[in-house]
Amino acid sequence: MPTMAQAEATLKTVYGYDEFREGQRESVGALVRGKDVLAIMPTGAGKSLCYQIPAIISSGITLVISPLISLMKDQVSALHQLDVKAAYINSTLTNKQQLMALENAKKGMYKIIYIAPERLNSEGFMDFAVHAKISHVIVDEAHCVSQWGQDFRPAYLNIAPFIASLKKRPVVGAFTATATLAVQKDIIRLLELHEPKKILTGFDRPNLFFEVMRPSDRDAALLNYVIKHAGQSGIVYCVTRRAVEEISEMLKANGIECVRYHAGLSDDERTQAQEDFINDRIPVIVATNAFGMGIDKSNVSFVVHYQMPKDLESYYQEAGRAGRDGEPADCCLLYMAQDIPLANYLIEHSLDSSALDIETARNVRAQAEERLRQMVYYCTGRGCLRNRILSYFGEATTETYCGNCSACLAAKGEQDVTREAGQIVSLVMALNGRYGRTMVASILSGKQNERIISAGLNEHSAFGALAAMGEGNIYAIIDELIASDVLAQTSGEYPCLIAGHYAKDVLSGDWPVRIPIDRGGQEVPIPKHKEEESEALFRILSKLRLAIAREQRVPPFVIFSNATLKDMARRKPRNRSEMLRVNGVGENKMRRYGDTFLTTISFYLMKTENGA
Ligand code: ADP
Ligand code: ZN
Repeated sequence: MPTMAQAEATLKTVYGYDEFREGQRESVGALVRGKDVLAIMPTGAGKSLCYQIPAIISSGITLVISPLISLMKDQVSALHQLDVKAAYINSTLTNKQQLMALENAKKGMYKIIYIAPERLNSEGFMDFAVHAKISHVIVDEAHCVSQWGQDFRPAYLNIAPFIASLKKRPVVGAFTATATLAVQKDIIRLLELHEPKKILTGFDRPNLFFEVMRPSDRDAALLNYVIKHAGQSGIVYCVTRRAVEEISEMLKANGIECVRYHAGLSDDERTQAQEDFINDRIPVIVATNAFGMGIDKSNVSFVVHYQMPKDLESYYQEAGRAGRDGEPADCCLLYMAQDIPLANYLIEHSLDSSALDIETARNVRAQAEERLRQMVYYCTGRGCLRNRILSYFGEATTETYCGNCSACLAAKGEQDVTREAGQIVSLVMALNGRYGRTMVASILSGKQNERIISAGLNEHSAFGALAAMGEGNIYAIIDELIASDVLAQTSGEYPCLIAGHYAKDVLSGDWPVRIPIDRGGQEVPIPKHKEEESEALFRILSKLRLAIAREQRVPPFVIFSNATLKDMARRKPRNRSEMLRVNGVGENKMRRYGDTFLTTISFYLMKTENGA
């Protein structure tokens, strides 16, 4: 039996990776030990490696059943790059090619064979399979076996009988990115998994900002949104082909470079559009949900849904194509009530009930309607959007505030000032470290004072550029930028502002910046000396936050918002239950960061209490 040491060595030598990611070690370990696996890991988490490593180090053949025909070829080419012998069998091969692949397979030339579920029953394949030594059967996109999910594929029901027909039962692994509890149960039952090791890594994608807009003029809202994201790569999803046509025309007429993509176009045009988008020749693609399956473009900065999709599974999968590289990215849904009848219509017409008996068809229909109801609730309800998604997928969360969705921002009275922050940063860079915070704020708010006039800065293009937002807000942004190392201050008696570590990210608009709408307005008044003390602790905690954020390559506010750190500095929690009382600290964040912050606070208290 292969060992974990071999698996580790393969990770390094074959893939060149130093460490397993979350969930990978457990998956590999179970499959290698001969235990079935049910792994639910978000897109991009690295599922392939979970079964490829066991396949490489085990003695038999691994079959990977996948519905994503377009992806198989890439997976196999990638494996060939690593000198792993692999092949795929699906309808894109001619009969002759399929026979050839099976001949080779019989001779034991492949370690890994990708196959579409529809091919399992073919005579040629069965003939091979009953004689072959198959150590593992991996079911990719395993949620397709369930009628409760959105991608039900009847051919997946053939998998369990296929496995049962093999001489020796292989180890079975089921992998998917999305599965509600009901779907998880179905996967276990319908694939006949034997007491599988369940591996669930978080669904949460902390770098994604979720937003729902309910504009009265959707075209104008979309246009604004795309202009605000100029220079970034993004996807605009529409529900219908007609909307794709109209929207791409509308954007083009307004000077936005974009391509269109839907199933009604020729293969050539679609391939061209896809390539132009993936290779960053065209920044924006307007598409139906036909676009995206098997696309792996890591630098998508925004995904806008021009219309509401039919369920949260589709929404999260499509929105999840943003920010695969871990950089901050925006997911926005433009909702209008007329999306509901359209979704209903599509549900009715997308259902191929011919293959189902009446009872099943009715059941499938009812589930689709329930999913739509949840989708509408996402668009119209109040409360944290991220929470709504996570709890929909059965991820228990006690946090009510993620701080990184439009609902949370509205609730906490924060505003997005990314663009204004960009103006501040470019001014600071233009001033080249000659002036401090006050001067920068005065220029931007358009103050006509002696110093500004004598330096000729009232002629500068940034002069008065942010006058409308008021000096207080400008200071708030500058302080936020200093706290997150976008700007830095020189040392000395008169510190000057200079560009910090993340200045470039803000300039390119990749780094969202937020401040409270009315700074200090909601804060509880506290005695002066206490305030100074908590200011000092706040600065210490901000540094800690920055260090964690850098390590995880996320913006600091994703860890904790400023409001949370301020509350923490004020309350100075000494244990976990006190920490949980801090505004913005829920159990998830408690688990992730609580102890680290508690330790820092206790050091601080030790120092000040001993000193005082
Ligand atoms: P999924 O199938 O879960 O969407 P993939 O298997 O395609 O994800 O992996 C996503 C990316 O992450 C790939 O580029 C892969 O090479 C990379 N990756 C996977 N595991 C690791 C690891 N342990 N360390 C670094 N990169 C990894
Ligand atoms: Zn939220």
